[in-house]
Amino acid sequence: MEFETRAIHAGQDPDPTTGSAITPIYQTTTYVQEAVGKNKGYDYSRAANPTRTALETALASLEGAEHGLAYSSGLGATTTIMHLVDPGQRVVLIADVYGGVYRLTSRVYEPKGYRFTYVPAEEFDENLSSYLDDDVALVWVETPSNPLLNIVDIRRAAEATHAAGALLAVDNTFATPYLQQPLELGADLVVHSTTKYLGGHSDVIGGAIATSDDTLAERLRFLQKSLGAVPGPFDAWLVLRGLKTLAVRMRQHCDNARRVAEYLDGHAAIERVLYPGLPGHPGHGVARTQMRDFGGMVSVLLESEEEAVAFCGRTKLFLLAESLGGVESLIEHPARMTHASTADAPFAAPRNLVRLSVGIESSDDLVADLEAALVRSGSPARA
Ligand code: PLP
Repeated sequence: MEFETRAIHAGQDPDPTTGSAITPIYQTTTYVQEAVGKNKGYDYSRAANPTRTALETALASLEGAEHGLAYSSGLGATTTIMHLVDPGQRVVLIADVYGGVYRLTSRVYEPKGYRFTYVPAEEFDENLSSYLDDDVALVWVETPSNPLLNIVDIRRAAEATHAAGALLAVDNTFATPYLQQPLELGADLVVHSTTKYLGGHSDVIGGAIATSDDTLAERLRFLQKSLGAVPGPFDAWLVLRGLKTLAVRMRQHCDNARRVAEYLDGHAAIERVLYPGLPGHPGHGVARTQMRDFGGMVSVLLESEEEAVAFCGRTKLFLLAESLGGVESLIEHPARMTHASTADAPFAAPRNLVRLSVGIESSDDLVADLEAALVRSGSPARA
């Protein structure tokens, strides 16, 4: 079955007890046992819950995975994966990782003796192997990355990682499984902040992991139950509902982002547009081969931090807010907002960077909003 069909039906058969066409929110913690130890597959909702099972089955199907696991947040999923690594072992990450992941690695795990190496995006495709010693357990990739929209060649990263005997995890939050299938390209684990495009409506925090490795899945299932970073039934249901429209939303996000990127590319007030769909983007060639389309995120560099901050304050439709991937357009200043925690990192977000999460409103209205905000900065509308 095609992606659009699986998004609506995988794991979402009509409810066997009532015939409800939509998966019910099983708002329950516990399940009556017919006899001691004899149940219908559920005993306690931290271990498993039918609404969460529906979501996990749908997520696995969309990622082309054998197993899906849902978490209470993207960082909850990341923390769980970090429990596959032992103190003393090394994790190699793309430099330009989401600020919250950097905060987790540098301020939670590094003090406990875990070791981290951040590889610049420009070096990742060609030189990853040179960073992979015997002590490397995990390689962590975001592609497209947050907030610089760098692209990593997943197939090449998987080959280098596996040659070193390590696992490759790909954070697929920006691309979503509709645009990119990391497991098919050789990744061992796919990670999501479902808070973003999968939920799609800026009304739920959630995370997910998908894998086709049975041993990893068994360990992750054990960790999910043992660490307890699970979503509640209503949150699971909201993400499940978001998945149903993922394909149509992503098509519109991509079309609108392309229009916005093309408009901004060449505007006198914009130094540079970072969007993998533009032919001049260094990752354009790889993105064309591993992605169906280029996504809904666009970052831009302005002349100065002051210009960037002022631009963020002038848009009307683009709401000044953190997060991304909802139907509404958002604008933010990563260095002071989402990526403030990378300020002391060698890859701190540039001070003149603005990140746009392009929503699914009319692209005419979105461009008019950006045009008005940039004109008021005193720059001519077009170069
Ligand atoms: N990964 C990426 C690429 C993100 O952008 C985020 C959040 O912004 C996360 C992970 C963390 O997800 P959450 O906020 O759901 O914990």
